[in-house]
Amino acid sequence: MDKYDLAPVGGPCCGHPTEIWFPPSRRGHISAEERKQRVANEQFAKDTCLSCDQRMHCLEYSLRHEPFGTWGGYTEIERAHMRVNRGINLTREGKLTIPGGSMNAATGTVTLKRPQRSAE
Ligand code: SF4
Repeated sequence: MDKYDLAPVGGPCCGHPTEIWFPPSRRGHISAEERKQRVANEQFAKDTCLSCDQRMHCLEYSLRHEPFGTWGGYTEIERAHMRVNRGINLTREGKLTIPGGSMNAATGTVTLKRPQRSAE
């Protein structure tokens, strides 16, 4: 066990609604208004993380243990790429929803949905 196996405590994210750091599923089809709100929430989370003195610890912890949400100023998709580039093993499974399919948060492997065939 090293220091990055323990989650940071406190931080300026405390007290804000959870959905700002953990947005609802990235469904392929959401309304323009929902998309706008999600982008705004994500930017708010990133901006707040920038001012956090635990940012690096938070990022390192999440790369090892947290597939979902924004941590250390990086979204779950950004951290999945970072995890793969740095060869960091994720201790939990996480299937991230992306437009058109899903991404394995540990391996970065993208799986695209098969197009639905219409019954004729
Ligand atoms: S870096 Fe962001 S998510 Fe992590 S403790 Fe700080 S404000 Fe919260």
